[in-house]
Amino acid sequence: MTAHSTYADFYRQSIDHRDAFWGEQAKLIDWKTPPQQVCDYSNPPFAKWFVGGTTNLCHNAVDRHLATRASQAALVAISTETDTERSYSFAELHAEVQRMAAVLQGLGVKKGDRVLIYMPMIAEAAFAMLACVRIGALHSVVFGGFASGSLASRIEDAEPVAVVSADAGSRGGKVVPYKPLLDEAIALSKHKPAAVLMVNRGLAPMHLQPGRDHEWAPLREQHLNTAVPCEWVESTHPSYTLYTSGTTGKPKGVQRDTGGYAVALAASMKHIFDAKPGEVYFATSDIGWVVGHSYIIYGPLLAGMTTILYEGLPIRPDAGVWWSIVEKYQVTHMFSAPTAVRVLKKQDPAFLTQYNVKSLKALWLAGEPVDEPTARWIGAALNIPIIDNYWQTETGWPILAVANGIEANAARWGSPGKAVYGYHVKLLDEATGEELTGPNQKGVVAIEGPLPPGCMQTVWRDDARFVNTYWKSIPGRLIYSTFDWGIRDADGYHFILGRTDDVINVAGHRLGTREIEESIASHPNIAEVAVVGVADSLKGQVAMAFAVARDASGLTDDAARLKLEGEVMKQVDGQLGAVARPARVYFVTVLPKTRSGKLLRRALQAVAERRDPGDLTTMEDPAALQQVKELVG
Ligand code: AMP
Repeated sequence: MTAHSTYADFYRQSIDHRDAFWGEQAKLIDWKTPPQQVCDYSNPPFAKWFVGGTTNLCHNAVDRHLATRASQAALVAISTETDTERSYSFAELHAEVQRMAAVLQGLGVKKGDRVLIYMPMIAEAAFAMLACVRIGALHSVVFGGFASGSLASRIEDAEPVAVVSADAGSRGGKVVPYKPLLDEAIALSKHKPAAVLMVNRGLAPMHLQPGRDHEWAPLREQHLNTAVPCEWVESTHPSYTLYTSGTTGKPKGVQRDTGGYAVALAASMKHIFDAKPGEVYFATSDIGWVVGHSYIIYGPLLAGMTTILYEGLPIRPDAGVWWSIVEKYQVTHMFSAPTAVRVLKKQDPAFLTQYNVKSLKALWLAGEPVDEPTARWIGAALNIPIIDNYWQTETGWPILAVANGIEANAARWGSPGKAVYGYHVKLLDEATGEELTGPNQKGVVAIEGPLPPGCMQTVWRDDARFVNTYWKSIPGRLIYSTFDWGIRDADGYHFILGRTDDVINVAGHRLGTREIEESIASHPNIAEVAVVGVADSLKGQVAMAFAVARDASGLTDDAARLKLEGEVMKQVDGQLGAVARPARVYFVTVLPKTRSGKLLRRALQAVAERRDPGDLTTMEDPAALQQVKELVG
């Protein structure tokens, strides 16, 4: 392949000479058997990457580095909740992962089986993920902040042979017991996992169900020296599923392959993050989210870096805690979310200058739109580039970014950057499907197939949902929709303007309003409810619920209203988790609908944000929005 003098050349190569380009990138990882075909796109939109190749994700993340960096720190698990720091070299990580793999095998886990991981940010969570891919099992990590209802629907869909969990998480010093939530979820689920493996942190008592539940520590002791070789799997063998919200109440299991994902991440470490082995990566996300999968666990380890796993808040014990970690571990790459930065911005700025952060090359931000004042503030405070990048659970790695490893490109405020190599990004007219080629035109951000390596293969056990949801939303075309609005300027920088669907983004967490509505509607005194995302200066968006009570007779009284609001919030906490709890529940007598009964969500959202609701000629009862206006003030 020719040398690339500019990013534009590099990008064009990736699109015009796809197979040559990715064939070259495939050399960044180890293969047991080299691939015979780079991309099989004979059955669109299903893409098979590196066909015929066999490899293993854990081998590439761990074993491969033993020859050159066995004693280098691979994983540093820091908890400001339990005041602990544990560092594992690549050799130690290798040993721990094999112990976990042996224990999982002992519990009956085999290649192709699913293992559900419901864990706080502790080292054992990383061992469990790596152990699964080592033996060819699929992990399905569920965010520890989700409650029993969310967990149950994921257990039911993934049908795991085993669940790995812990006695408790901790947030802001408050212990959150996991075991009761897990037991309740298993009781709710039609599928019952055969085995549950519990890590006991000594934070909360746990009741073990004989025959099903096992404790990690004693089983680990039995396998201190057990060698578990990597299972060489086809490149297309699924490595994991990760559930994400959509417009229906049922979460989608995003399914990822093995070889394509390993190549995509290894390439991103080089080209996007300009990362070198031995450097230190600190992503402040959670393993329950896609950033955690790609840039806490796999990406940095594939690159031979040290990765930092952090349990705790950004402001506890004080707002300097992240920077103290940067100084202590000489962090070179930091990845966070805009909400976290907005939280820090509210604290005393002195915390930012207390530590030496000169080791940092840049701070990457993703997950939600980055507002310019926030980006400028943190950039000036740390005196490093702030790099916005845009992607989704579905894609697994950035769609839009600046690829500093190829050409140093200045980031542009408010823009996540240019189309990343491999992504044939287009802006389309939502109604006609026509491509918008001029500058500054607003359209749906779409990606021409095949999606590059590393992106979702399909929806777990639901190919039809994959095709119908993602590829058929634009009339007359088979093209992947991101469901985001965007514009592109004359220089190719994109700007993301929010979702085209009912997905909302609270503090970088993606939530489906439909799931929250279903939870609220199951309260006995709720007849009907609409949940919308409303702009919030700290969290980007918050969920706001507008509900019609079955029996509203008592609701004229403030205390009664507050009581019902409290009950509804508790219900959401219990079923979905506090992340999904609406900021407010307002009671109305009627919801704004069209005469044909369709909920006017965009109008409701506009009024809740004190904006003009636009054309309301199709509205059934004009009083509905008036009530909302009065309530939100
Ligand atoms: P998730 O799948 O949870 O990562 O959420 C993906 C969604 O978050 C995208 O479809 C966008 O709506 C939003 N998003 C992610 N990164 C950005 C960004 N850098 N700028 C604007 N929106 C973003």
